[in-house]
Amino acid sequence: MPTTLLVVKGVSCPLPHVGVAIERVFDAWAWCESDVLEWRRPAASGQLDKTVAIDSQNPAELVFVFKEGADSTFLPRELARFHAKGYGLEEEWALAPYAIDDATDLLYERHVKPRDLFWVAASSLRALVWGLHDWAHFHNHGPFDEPALTELACDLVAISWLRENREAIGVDDADLERVALELAGLSRSRFEAEEKTAPTADLDGLFVSAVAGELAR
Ligand SMILES: [Zn+2]
Repeated sequence: MPTTLLVVKGVSCPLPHVGVAIERVFDAWAWCESDVLEWRRPAASGQLDKTVAIDSQNPAELVFVFKEGADSTFLPRELARFHAKGYGLEEEWALAPYAIDDATDLLYERHVKPRDLFWVAASSLRALVWGLHDWAHFHNHGPFDEPALTELACDLVAISWLRENREAIGVDDADLERVALELAGLSRSRFEAEEKTAPTADLDGLFVSAVAGELAR
């Protein structure tokens, strides 16, 4: 099956005015330095599926699979083959799709590096973007009492990783801009649902600048 090693180095606080807000939501900003993420697609997959818009649902075609020999017993787990089709998986375990928050908490508590535990199965751009977003959660920890702001932080990190790996992933400027605007729309709806003010009135502009590589390092 096609395997791609994505380089996902730590990103410091995105843009000064947002950075101040985001430092509030992570009591352990980047407790674990991120470095690489192993991404796989089904053996028979041709082009990456970019057709499906990103929405608030966790994509069915995304799952974090435990690496061979990794301890999977302290997290909710399910057989990977039930979620990741076409990868030739048999008895391998995957993180239960509902357990992203459990993993975020327990990896932090146990100081287990996500890259030692998981590779990500993602057959579409939508799934990969969500996978990168979750990867950002796994490396940062906070009380999660301002969800819209936490999600914004993870989105901005995910989008900068997407940009930095654009050639390996196979996305162009138009793909990146589309992802940025879809994520900005989601972010806007989260702040509205929470009845909170976003750190900037121009979320579209913030996401587009993030995808253009204008986040601070
Ligand atoms: Zn999230």
